[in-house]
Amino acid sequence: MSAQQEYSFFGAVESSFDKAAKFTTWDPGILEQIKQCNSVYRMHFPVKIGDQIEVIKAYRVQHSHHKTPCKGGIRFATSVNLDEVMALAALMTFKCAIVNVPFGGAKGGITIDPKKYTTYELEKITRRYTHELIKKNFIGPGTDVPAPDYGTGEREMAWILDTYLSMNPGEVDALGCVTGKPVSQGGVRGRREATGLGVFFGIREICNMAEVMKKLGMEPGVENKTVVVQGLGNVGYHAAKYFREGGAKVIAIAEFEGAITHPDGLNEEAVFQHRKKTGSILNFPGATNIVNSNEALELSCDILIPAALENVINGENAPRVKAKIIGEAANGPLTPEADEVFAAKGVLVVPDMYLNAGGVTVSYFEWLKNLSHVRYGRLEKRFTENQNKNILNQIEELTGRKVDAATKSIIEHGADEVDLVYSGLEETMITATREIIECWNNNSQIPDMRTAAYVVAINKVATSYAELGIFP
Ligand code: GLU
Repeated sequence: MSAQQEYSFFGAVESSFDKAAKFTTWDPGILEQIKQCNSVYRMHFPVKIGDQIEVIKAYRVQHSHHKTPCKGGIRFATSVNLDEVMALAALMTFKCAIVNVPFGGAKGGITIDPKKYTTYELEKITRRYTHELIKKNFIGPGTDVPAPDYGTGEREMAWILDTYLSMNPGEVDALGCVTGKPVSQGGVRGRREATGLGVFFGIREICNMAEVMKKLGMEPGVENKTVVVQGLGNVGYHAAKYFREGGAKVIAIAEFEGAITHPDGLNEEAVFQHRKKTGSILNFPGATNIVNSNEALELSCDILIPAALENVINGENAPRVKAKIIGEAANGPLTPEADEVFAAKGVLVVPDMYLNAGGVTVSYFEWLKNLSHVRYGRLEKRFTENQNKNILNQIEELTGRKVDAATKSIIEHGADEVDLVYSGLEETMITATREIIECWNNNSQIPDMRTAAYVVAINKVATSYAELGIFP
């Protein structure tokens, strides 16, 4: 067995949990209940691929029912296994608790390489998987609501919705059975970029905390900070975009096939188009190639954003990482051994289970939209604009001065769906960051921000169990 196989991701989550549980006063029984995965569903189903019948292995794990529905993405990758799905489901419980999204954690996965199948075959696999979930009551707007994750996106969510709708005709809230859907299929504007934008909002808030930055020996603010992004998928792409737009310099981007660096900063869209056209991130005009992609993690920079898969920074490479802040955009990119190294080095690790919560936060907004059957802003946008126009007209009349056209359109603008989603996400990420930092500041024994985040999460989930009266 290789070292990679021996590593248990769920074990790592359990060990982080235990480390944090010591800083709480909850009954050991409550803590044990919070740790366990409540329901684990492993399935095998046949799908005809070409002339062959392929047996597909898949999972759905509901980690916690302290709040329902359960919530979490579905991953398509050859690395999907039970241990991973359990770990990711557990992280979802803690993630939802931290950002006050009223769901229990869940996760699903299919052990396939999506690149090996045609669109038609992927649709067959996705629809069959959805049937399996329906059969066991593992999907529904009030029970368990999947979403995209590594290897899946809007297209797969639309197939899941369509399969669910066809099996539940007339169910008025059926649109809420899955999130991350295309806008035309009941999705919400802003969901696609939500995780990357949430990562940016979280790190920006940290960078705006003068005390935290002083300890790291850095100037406050994200402007001019150097950033390395690992992974140019949905999360990495959008994180890079918002850092660049916020005035930071994305000096390196890494993918499987290699990485590229540029001291003046890279434009993620140009890099994305180059990769699409040539099939590789390497040889981007003006940039320097790094053939071994992992070396990008070790570049000198202010902020490192691992936005791909778990376990990429471990006890072996952590000592060589030079970033001052590591923002975990992926789920579980650091092992507990890496955490120890960074705590000793004074590197700030901003933990996954809150930093990448933007996706589930906006999924929550999408689910609320589906249950309310109305687009955000539809009722009030025009009303607000008319009010603003009237106020501005009055001011102009009373003062005898005119506001210029550009300022006028900013002041008059009534909120669209996307404005409200961004603003809700910004509020959520800022509040969560402050809450975790406050918890950390209040207890000098808490060794790192991950532990502080777990303490906040455990307290919320345990309070919820206690209030349910499950434990006297
Ligand atoms: N897969 C994403 C995550 O890990 C989103 C989950 C969701 O929106 O339910 O947070």
